[in-house]
Amino acid sequence: MTVAETEKLEALFSDIVQWRRHLHTYPELSFHEVETPAFIAEKLETLGLEVKRNVGGRGVVAYLRGEKPGPTIALRADFDALPIEEDNDISYKSQNPGVMHACGHDGHTAALLGVASVLVEKKAELNGTIVFLFQHAEEKPPGGAQEMIKDGCLEGVDVVYGAHVASDIPFGHVNVTSGPIMAAVDAFTIHVQGKGGHGARPNLTKDAIVAGTQLVTELQQIVARRVDPMDTAVVTVGVFQAGSAFNVIADSAHIEGTVRTFKQETREQIEEEIHSIVRGVETSTHVTCSVDYLNGYPPLVNHEQETSVLGEVAEEAMGKEAPITRPAHLGGEDFAFYLKERPGAFFHVGARTEDENTHYPHHHPRFNFDEKALLNIGKLFLGIVQRYNRGGN
Ligand SMILES: [Zn+2]
Ligand SMILES: [Zn+2]
Repeated sequence: MTVAETEKLEALFSDIVQWRRHLHTYPELSFHEVETPAFIAEKLETLGLEVKRNVGGRGVVAYLRGEKPGPTIALRADFDALPIEEDNDISYKSQNPGVMHACGHDGHTAALLGVASVLVEKKAELNGTIVFLFQHAEEKPPGGAQEMIKDGCLEGVDVVYGAHVASDIPFGHVNVTSGPIMAAVDAFTIHVQGKGGHGARPNLTKDAIVAGTQLVTELQQIVARRVDPMDTAVVTVGVFQAGSAFNVIADSAHIEGTVRTFKQETREQIEEEIHSIVRGVETSTHVTCSVDYLNGYPPLVNHEQETSVLGEVAEEAMGKEAPITRPAHLGGEDFAFYLKERPGAFFHVGARTEDENTHYPHHHPRFNFDEKALLNIGKLFLGIVQRYNRGGN
């Protein structure tokens, strides 16, 4: 990244903040994004880029074709929000009830728009092509990445990079860990069909609450008693709904949960264990269950060479102390799909400062981050482009 590029990006900081706050004010849920992709596409068209709308449904892809031949580099930002009621007391608080940008995707999009604004002026010097991937529906499997890939967003792409702000990494640092850094994310739904009736006559019913709670308890045994203790896995039940009145035996129960793993064999083992536990509970409680198991995102595995490029870029752009490595965690990210198709890396950029408002975890109703982290995302993206333009691949 040249000094001139850094300066241009810094000069755009107030725009980036304004775009981010606009998106924050009007968040949209995964697979329901309408205004957000329109906002992004309009900004990109104003810059004079070649823009494709509705890629894989709701994604936006823009192309900056340099005047000289060279590699094709894809940079990705996601733009969906979460079903959370915002509890922040800020001027740009969400105006869409029950929906909130509580993961920072508003910031990723604003930062990448900033990068596009800087690079568009470099067109004459650019070797190769930059593909800007603005992706819908990261938060909800099956996710937007797969749809966009199916629709050709990686055609001709040589390497792909993606960024995420992180409220658990101090400002000024960036995680540049190679190999598996995030888990596979699966989701399951179990419908328990019993037979409702009078609370005083349980013998004439099939109690869906008793059966459902038994299921929830037995699911805890999968990780505790079935999975190899040297392996890593999580089974979490996040939804349990049943019952309507104190003296009515519930007719049905609804359970939803998530499974996180790193190894394919563990992933398959857990799915099989869930089916086996359900069959057991059906036998012992006489209810009937249906299980819907969704294979969500694969584990996110950073490629070695592209991660080392990222590490060098981070040192150059943010200083010697900036790059850090840290253990993998069991969050998921559909950027994993891009990395199954092309070499590349995904990086978490520190956004936590001394300000306590930046200390809340992602997906918390008070989540927020230091917006200066968006400049770091921008600098890293610009550095990556510069690096490949120098023949760094
Ligand atoms: Zn998230
Ligand atoms: Zn996220």
